[in-house]
Amino acid sequence: MKLTILGCYAATPRTITNPTSQVLEIRNRMFLIDCGEGTQVQLRKNKLKFSKINHIFISHLHGDHFYGLVGLISTFMLLNRQTDLHVYGPKGIKEIILLQLRYANSFTGYNLYFHELASTEGEIIYEDEKVVVKTIPLKHRIYTNGFLFQEKVGDRKLNVDAVNQHKIETCYFQKIKNGKDIILDDGTIITNDELTFDPIQPKSYAFCSDTIYDESLVDKIKNVDILYHETTFLETEVDKAEKTMHSTATQAATIAKKANVTQLIVGHYSTRYENINLFKEEAQTIFQNVILADDGKTFEFD
Ligand SMILES: [Zn+2]
Ligand SMILES: [Zn+2]
Repeated sequence: MKLTILGCYAATPRTITNPTSQVLEIRNRMFLIDCGEGTQVQLRKNKLKFSKINHIFISHLHGDHFYGLVGLISTFMLLNRQTDLHVYGPKGIKEIILLQLRYANSFTGYNLYFHELASTEGEIIYEDEKVVVKTIPLKHRIYTNGFLFQEKVGDRKLNVDAVNQHKIETCYFQKIKNGKDIILDDGTIITNDELTFDPIQPKSYAFCSDTIYDESLVDKIKNVDILYHETTFLETEVDKAEKTMHSTATQAATIAKKANVTQLIVGHYSTRYENINLFKEEAQTIFQNVILADDGKTFEFD
């Protein structure tokens, strides 16, 4: 699992900072999470392949989370994209995007599917044989969802030495990976644990931005491996956080601790702060394993 931060600052884009957007590479899928202004430039800067993005998840309709979407959709058009593109986001996103395309007299050469979200309960919005994605309803000034990405438990891993030693034919390999024992021609039973190793532990990633401090979040993200939780403010501006329905570093760390996550990534910093290290320092007074997001940073999780 690999996470690239394209942008992690609140409000307006600046020459040195970008609004929210991330790329999550998980089991060979590439998901785009939020698409603030400048996302496609950041994709190029970080040398990420546009064509591998087939699913885009938009948390909410504040500009710093989706103003880059119509630009990216247009660029896909100019690049002569043929593959289907799926956009998951709040109700209204389809109307907003199609209105812009209509007035530009533009048509995508690829199928563009909108999956509009309106539920206030967590729901599965994407699933394939390796990954499942659920919404995490958040409390913000407008309808907002976070997203929980979970790998599924994979096949057991083949112990090549053991299968060779027992001269087991390749046609049985999938059965073995599925956990079956093998009976040899002479009737000997070779149990599965002799032939396989445990599968890779599935990982989970929860993206939670933007949100007020909300303890009901804890159950929804319990024991996730990596939590990205917004920290727009430091605790000195806790009043502003409440008023604008954002969180402080202290609050994000409190959620991380209560949810028993392994790692906390903080971001969505207000541009009023010159030194983002203060977010890490503040969060670490409550929860030790804190990573500071910053534009262009990549994190790999094994
Ligand atoms: Zn925001
Ligand atoms: Zn917002």
